[in-house]
Amino acid sequence: MPITGECFCGDIKYQVNGKLRDAKSCHCSRCRKAFNAQASASAFVEPDEFVWLSGESQLTSFVGKHGYGLQFCKKCGSTLCTIHNGKVFQVTLGCVNGSPDIKIGQHIFVGSKAPWEIIPKGVIQFKEGPK
Ligand SMILES: [Zn+2]
Ligand SMILES: [Zn+2]
Repeated sequence: MPITGECFCGDIKYQVNGKLRDAKSCHCSRCRKAFNAQASASAFVEPDEFVWLSGESQLTSFVGKHGYGLQFCKKCGSTLCTIHNGKVFQVTLGCVNGSPDIKIGQHIFVGSKAPWEIIPKGVIQFKEGPK
């Protein structure tokens, strides 16, 4: 079964013809805003294995310096993926359907987490980036 994902309103759907890899959660202040949550939760995909199934015209992008950016649904605001030079290389785990075969391996930038967040015991965490 291929991995699929979709935004909150369901207009935008995608498929990953491969595995999700290297899932991370970043607790820095920028990710809190970009992902509307206490942290990001994203996994890497092979850009060539990522395919939009529907709603691609509903996508809007925020691209920063160096060609890295995020893509959102215009209608519902879900943050679907991270792009580099227009190619998807990470998906947001919250928009992935079902139970993909992956766990968050590393919690990074825990040193700058929000004061209201409690990090669960036992997770692999780094004050800044991974070593
Ligand atoms: Zn949507
Ligand atoms: Zn971050």
